Amino acid sequence: MALIVQKYGGSSVGSIDRIRNVASRIKKLRDEGNQVVAVVSAMGGVTDKLIGMANELNESPPERELDVLLSSGEQQSIALVCMALNDMGVEAVSATGRQAGIRTVGSHTRGRIDEIDPTIVQGYLAEGKVVIVAGFQGVTHDGLIHTLGRGGSDLSAIAVAASLNADVCQILTDVDGVYTCDPRVVKDARKLPEISYDEMLEMASSGSKVMQSRSVEFAKKYGVVFEVCSSLNDNPGTLVTEEHPAMEAVVIRGVSIERSQARVTITEIPDKPGNSAKILGCLADAEINIDMIVSNIASNGMARHSFTMHTNDLGRAQAALKPVLGELSSEAQIETEAGLAKLSTVGIGMRSHSGVAAKMFQALGSAGINIGMISTSEIKISVTVEETNIEDAARVVHEAFDLDKKPEA
Ligand code: ADP
Ligand code: ASP
Ligand code: MG
Repeated sequence: MALIVQKYGGSSVGSIDRIRNVASRIKKLRDEGNQVVAVVSAMGGVTDKLIGMANELNESPPERELDVLLSSGEQQSIALVCMALNDMGVEAVSATGRQAGIRTVGSHTRGRIDEIDPTIVQGYLAEGKVVIVAGFQGVTHDGLIHTLGRGGSDLSAIAVAASLNADVCQILTDVDGVYTCDPRVVKDARKLPEISYDEMLEMASSGSKVMQSRSVEFAKKYGVVFEVCSSLNDNPGTLVTEEHPAMEAVVIRGVSIERSQARVTITEIPDKPGNSAKILGCLADAEINIDMIVSNIASNGMARHSFTMHTNDLGRAQAALKPVLGELSSEAQIETEAGLAKLSTVGIGMRSHSGVAAKMFQALGSAGINIGMISTSEIKISVTVEETNIEDAARVVHEAFDLDKKPEA
């Protein structure tokens, strides 16, 4: 008998038929003698719909109330999955974030899991029941509802698996694993049999939404090995695990894309200690997430800084920066550009192989795609391109690194 924690995402519970499909998959595992805890998301589209209604009523809805509203999506699906299971003769009970003992800290709409008290879930399991847990939600130590950021059911599942010391953790979704690039964009993307935590983390945080990046961070921290696989077939999925030496032989594991990016450039910044902190500090105070940061070496005593962010944050960033510009110098200017996207190549093999950036830039150049900003980490190279070019850019880079072909052993 194994203790299996599964997570079913929005499209996997997106209709009555899909909910029945989830219930029969759980029933099969139960019939085989396993204990099962399934974490489920809201039905596909429900969270977006709820956000839409909130925005229609209020331009900036109170985040406390957003959490109360958004958490209701997952509450619907846990009850529906339990009803389907009960109808199939399986004893199943639902658990909200509170009932599952998921305690959070941090801010509304982006709570962080602080601890999980698994007592109630373990009690149900001991009674022979299947437990269906609401993803994406927890409660603060004061009893307020928190949601965990978009895609947060992945985090709930990994954290529940860690707290129960589960034998198996599976993330079931609408693709049968992690591919070398989003298979909806690059048709000959290849399913990866395995990927290291660090590579999955870099891919997730640079736009591969198959996993929420915070969930991967959590899995790495607590050593939760998990498999990404399909809720619609039984194909082997992708194992996300600790890296091992053979993994470094592959230079590039995958390519990620992130759309809707914008650039802000500030020019004529006096080259003095503290000025960069002033600029980034005001963006941090406005809770704007900055992604790439590129600064040049000052010339004539003046520097320029560019950074990228989600297009939705551009207006707020401009408003937050305005008062600071005057403090920097009378010549300081702000330029903005929307309609960008980010392309990233990721692979732990980059640590030990050179020439990756040259090959990537050459592939883009040959395809006539202009590169805007460039940033790198030990295992990632990211560039911005015009958003209209992003899919072509992903395809040419994918091809340049032969990612459609199985690497030689
Ligand atoms: P869920 O609702 O199950 O959480 P998501 O929509 O969040 O599912 O994530 C699955 C989607 O992630 C896929 O449909 C696919 O288009 C996208 N995706 C992006 N990058 C990748 C990748 N490298 N491998 C697989 N899927 C990817
Ligand atoms: N329902 C939430 C969302 O759409 C959480 C999730 O699906 O993981 O972001
Ligand atoms: Mg998801």
